[in-house]
Amino acid sequence: MSCKAGQRHHPIRIRQPCLTEDLPGCGRPAYPLDVCLKVPDLSAWRNTASGVSGVHVFDSGLSGPDLVIVGMVHGNEYAGGHALEILRQNNPVPHTGRLTLILANLAAFDRFEANAPMASRYLTEDLNRLWHPSRLNGSERSSELDRARQILPFIERADLLLDLHSTLWPSEPVFIVPPRRRSSDFACVLASEEQSAALVVTDLGHQGGSRLVEYSRFMAVGGTGRACLLEAGLHWRSETVDMMVKVSERFLKDAMRIHFQGRETDTKQPAEMGVVTDNVLARSADFRFVEPWVGNTCIPNAGTVIARDGHDLICTPYDKCLLIVPNLRPRQGQLAVRLARRTAVHLNA
Ligand SMILES: [Zn+2]
Repeated sequence: MSCKAGQRHHPIRIRQPCLTEDLPGCGRPAYPLDVCLKVPDLSAWRNTASGVSGVHVFDSGLSGPDLVIVGMVHGNEYAGGHALEILRQNNPVPHTGRLTLILANLAAFDRFEANAPMASRYLTEDLNRLWHPSRLNGSERSSELDRARQILPFIERADLLLDLHSTLWPSEPVFIVPPRRRSSDFACVLASEEQSAALVVTDLGHQGGSRLVEYSRFMAVGGTGRACLLEAGLHWRSETVDMMVKVSERFLKDAMRIHFQGRETDTKQPAEMGVVTDNVLARSADFRFVEPWVGNTCIPNAGTVIARDGHDLICTPYDKCLLIVPNLRPRQGQLAVRLARRTAVHLNA
């Protein structure tokens, strides 16, 4: 574990000599698998003029930025399917440049069943862990690798990319950006809209592989491609669709300004920024949070016990620690929560 954002005051993990009855803990909560959103009709995405299913291109015919909005990288996150279908129906041809809408994992979405809604996140492997040249250019094949290679030409040309996701566990909406100043500037513009997600978090990447927003186009030092991921709310809620549409519309409205200036100039709701300092992995099979924390909760004091993991207590390492997208029932070895510190400045990379 590393800390890139200043001093810490308390260790994260404290080994207990033995478990006692008075350790905090509220048990493992039941999965919140309420599917309250109808499955979208995505028939208009099957045979498209682009020649690639799930991809619609709206071209102004004039030179300008290449905008890309991606949904359903995870097949069961179909709030993104609703959001992109709403956008598509509005025929969103930009004034200049080109807009590409991509529903990334239609094959997994097609397997969605309301009584097993987690099973269609992907078919073979997580499509959001493959975006590294070693995987994309390798000789391996899988449903998701094939699909990543199929949509890669559209990603390769993106100047600005917005990747729409949702969460299983309750969380305030949050933008997650790769550690590049140009991408956090981009997300801060989107976050400055009233009633948008207000928090922009730069994170440490994912141990399982590179995410789409970490593709080399967006990570290259001195490059120009900008990307951010929006965790818009719970998977199967209409409010999540509303948040995705609102942020996408802001993106389209301000794309030129973001592309050429990239800065937040209107401060109706100034973005809050944070930097992930630690990824806390569940080392044991019975990792338990002491409360069912809602994502973006700020814990005031260093040393507050937030979870237990086998014989270990998990504590906040500094005051005002943000809990980013907690996974309230992680499997052994999975990411349980990211810890983030608020910052006043962008990472300068
Ligand atoms: Zn997702």
